Amino acid sequence: MKLLQDKILQEGKVLSESVLKVDSFLNHQIDPQLMLEIGEEFARLFANEGITKILTLESSGIAPSVMTGLKLGIPVIFARKRKSLTLTDDLLTATVYSYTKQESNEISISNKFIEKGDHVLIIDDFLANGEAALGLIELVTQAGATIAGIGIVIEKSFQAGGNKLREQGLKVESLARVESLSNGEVKFVKDKVE
Ligand code: 5GP
Repeated sequence: MKLLQDKILQEGKVLSESVLKVDSFLNHQIDPQLMLEIGEEFARLFANEGITKILTLESSGIAPSVMTGLKLGIPVIFARKRKSLTLTDDLLTATVYSYTKQESNEISISNKFIEKGDHVLIIDDFLANGEAALGLIELVTQAGATIAGIGIVIEKSFQAGGNKLREQGLKVESLARVESLSNGEVKFVKDKVE
């Protein structure tokens, strides 16, 4: 997605060989117009999959997911990383090792929002080693629902997550695929440069 790639080149900060900071439009401050266009693109890519729900992880997955849900006309559920006092229903939980925080979190959703028969699109901001996506897949599986696919805003293709998920036969669509962050520079995978 050209608009997203341009934004990453203009505003992304390469923090190391493996970490990209995009807090001016995705991870802290949010660019609503860009999120809307991201939502339109995910909706287009997954239009024919019969999706009934979108599942994401708080907090950075919420903005692109809501825009996608708006376009597809379906609800969005975000898994919580901390137990909330109001999250009192029967919970589905999975353990996710956080790439950026380097700690394990229990993620959870109420079992009333994803049920047997749901066909779920998983969306997240970044794909690195695939831990977050695998945790979300586990929640969907526990609910007895099925996975329609995985939508990722920024995939770091030099890390293992993309292959791990695609090897399972999952449809993974990433709007920007970063090939390398070497020498403080963002390089995109060639076949996705539009
Ligand atoms: P994974 O679970 O695939 O290893 O990592 C994905 C999760 O870690 C995402 O939910 C995202 O929050 C975070 N993450 C991974 N790599 C990056 C990165 O380079 N930049 C930022 N801002 N977050 C990242």
